[in-house]
Amino acid sequence: MIYKSAGSNRRVKEWLICLTVIVAELVGMAAPGSVQKTEEEWRAVLSPEQFRILREKGTELKGTGEYDKFFEEGIYSCAGCGTPLYKSTTKFNSGCGWPAFYEGFPGAITRTPDPDGRRTEITCTACGGHLGHVFKGEGFKTPTDERHCVNSVSIKFAPANAAPSV
Ligand SMILES: [Zn+2]
Repeated sequence: MIYKSAGSNRRVKEWLICLTVIVAELVGMAAPGSVQKTEEEWRAVLSPEQFRILREKGTELKGTGEYDKFFEEGIYSCAGCGTPLYKSTTKFNSGCGWPAFYEGFPGAITRTPDPDGRRTEITCTACGGHLGHVFKGEGFKTPTDERHCVNSVSIKFAPANAAPSV
């Protein structure tokens, strides 16, 4: 049986174009180093705690973060530059004391081995802001078996039904 018609072909094409635009926007926003500021400029836009964690690779106290036990539907973006980093659907309760995600938006997160060779740091690809660390193979029942252990201070949540901020 053939269901194809000119109309449905056009709809498929339009849908593909729409999808391509969304992907291009996401990739564009996450272009490495696309957001660059001096230390002074960062201090002007970040709170002292955000500066300490995002720019000086600090860590918030275990179990104290705003999003540690927070499970609403929406998107988490970089608190420094606003680039979307994680979907709430990839957040899980790891019990570790910090927000945990099993996957970020493609290309949005950069991984760098720590100098001690034991842990892998994760940063916002666009602005280089420190997010936390990623751990693999811990046995969590998630699609990737990875745990992005992220400071709540480094991210900003927006509910799914909110209008996207520009
Ligand atoms: Zn950023």
